[in-house]
Amino acid sequence: MTTTRNVDIDKAIEWIDEHWTGQKECPICKNTSWFVGDVIGEIRQMGRDQRFVASSFFPVIVLSCKTCGYSLLFNAAVMDPDQKAP
Ligand SMILES: [Zn+2]
Repeated sequence: MTTTRNVDIDKAIEWIDEHWTGQKECPICKNTSWFVGDVIGEIRQMGRDQRFVASSFFPVIVLSCKTCGYSLLFNAAVMDPDQKAP
């Protein structure tokens, strides 16, 4: 399976640095080193019957702690409203 990298890592880091004004400490392990995933993920909407709704999702950019993997999700559409869906 081929993965298409669709996150501009430098641009994402710049956005996060600009908006994350508090302590950049992991709440789990207290590490302060993070990395940005190079692909946009998605969180799908669940239907009433707990099944996925195929057409509705939130695009997310993942920021993960380098030590324990704890992750933060940022809405890619907010970070870069001009970006097209992958
Ligand atoms: Zn951690």
